[in-house]
Amino acid sequence: MLFCPTLERSNFHCGVPMLPKRIRIDRRQLLRLGAAAPALALTGCGTDSDRPSDAGPLKMRYRPLGRTGLQVSEIAFGAHGVENQALMHAALEAGINTFCTSGSYLDGKEERALSEVLRSARVPRDKVVIFTGDEIPAGTGAGRVVAAIDASLRRLGTDYIDVFYTAQVASVAQVSAAGLLAGIDEAKRAGKVRHLALSCHTGGMQDILNAAMNDARFEVFFIKYDFVSYPDLDATLRRAAQKGIGTVVFKTTAGNRQREIKDLEAGGLSFRQATLKWALQNPDVASAAVTATSFRIIRECVEAVGQRLSAAEVRMMRRYADEMADKYCRFCATCECHCPRGVAVADVMRFAMYFSYYGREKEAMRLYRALPAERRASGCASCSAPCERACPFRRSLHAELVTADRSLKFEEA
Ligand code: SF4
Ligand code: SF4
Repeated sequence: MLFCPTLERSNFHCGVPMLPKRIRIDRRQLLRLGAAAPALALTGCGTDSDRPSDAGPLKMRYRPLGRTGLQVSEIAFGAHGVENQALMHAALEAGINTFCTSGSYLDGKEERALSEVLRSARVPRDKVVIFTGDEIPAGTGAGRVVAAIDASLRRLGTDYIDVFYTAQVASVAQVSAAGLLAGIDEAKRAGKVRHLALSCHTGGMQDILNAAMNDARFEVFFIKYDFVSYPDLDATLRRAAQKGIGTVVFKTTAGNRQREIKDLEAGGLSFRQATLKWALQNPDVASAAVTATSFRIIRECVEAVGQRLSAAEVRMMRRYADEMADKYCRFCATCECHCPRGVAVADVMRFAMYFSYYGREKEAMRLYRALPAERRASGCASCSAPCERACPFRRSLHAELVTADRSLKFEEA
C-alpha cells in the first residue's frame, strides 16, 4: 500500500483500487433497497407548481437527535446558499423545525435571513433547532473558533446555537484539533453552543467518523449519505447511534442528475422523494437536510415523510445507480494522489456538481475561487491525466476537470 502525500488531508491510503468492469450499487445497499415495501401509492408528487402551498396539508414527523435531547424534523432545511426568506417561512409552515445554515457559505447571509424569519414569524427560540458551523482547519486557534461562533450568534440574533458543526472535515487530524476543542469548550461554558457536530463528505469519511467516535466529544454527525457511496456507512452510523451520536444527513440524491436519465421519473415518481425515503428508512438517521430552492421542492420532500419506498421507486433507484455508476463522483479522493500537481479533484468535482446540477452557480464559482490556485484544475487541459486511470469508478475525469475549470472560473474572465 502506497501512502499518498496529497491525501494527507483525508488520511487516505491509496492502493490500486480498480473495481470490476461493470460497477454497480453495493450489495448490502441493494439488500436495503430490496427490503423495501411493495408498491405504495405516492400522492401529490411531481407537481411543477411553485407556490407555497399547493395541495393539502403536510404532516411532519420528528425524531430524537442522539442523546442531545433535541427533537428534529425528519426533513431539515438546508440553508447553505439559500437566503430566500419566503422559502424559510414555507419550511416552518410545513413543520420543519431544523435549519442547517452556515457562517461562511454566503458570508452569513443565510443566518441573517433565518434570524429575520424566526423574528417575524414569532417562533419561540426553543421551538427550532439551529445548526450552524464553519470550516475549522487544523491549527486554528481557540480564539478564532469562538470569534466565528460569536459572529454567527450576532447574525442569527440568538444567544445560543443548538448544534455547531466543524465543516468539511477532511482529515483525522482535524477531528482532534486542539483549537477547535478548546474553543468549543469555552463556547459551551459560556452557554453559546449546546452541542458539537462534525460535518464531512469526502474521502476517508469512515476513518474520520471513527476518530470522532473515539474522541467522544462529538454529539452529532452531519454528513453526506446516499445509496451509491460509502457501502460501510450504515454500520458506522449504527455504532454512532449506540454511542448516543445523532446523525443528520445530506446529499441523498447521489449527484442530483435524475433529469439526465430519460423517463426515470415517469408515472409521477420523484427521485428526490425516493432517496429521502431510503435515507429515513435507516433508524440511525434522525433527519435529512435538503437544500430547498423552491416551494415545490419543500413540498416534494415533506411528502416523503412517513412513506415507505415503493417497488417502482426501488427500480428507479437501481436504474439510477446503474446508469450513473461511471458518471457520479463519490468525492472519495482516491484519484488525487495520482495528480502530480496536487489538484483538489474531489472538491473541484463537488463544486462542478453545485454548478451543473444544483442550480448554485455563483456559490460554486465562489468556492472554486477560494481554493488555492495550485489546487484548481487550470492545468488539466495540458495534462495526460494519470488521475483518470486511478478512478475506481472509471469516470471520464479528464474531460470533466477541463469543463469544470472552464465553467467555474467563468466569472474571472
Ligand atoms: S488532469 Fe492532470 S493536473 Fe488535472 S487532476 Fe488529473 S493528473 Fe492532476
Ligand atoms: S473522480 Fe473518481 S476517484 Fe476521484 S474523487 Fe471522484 S469518484 Fe473518487
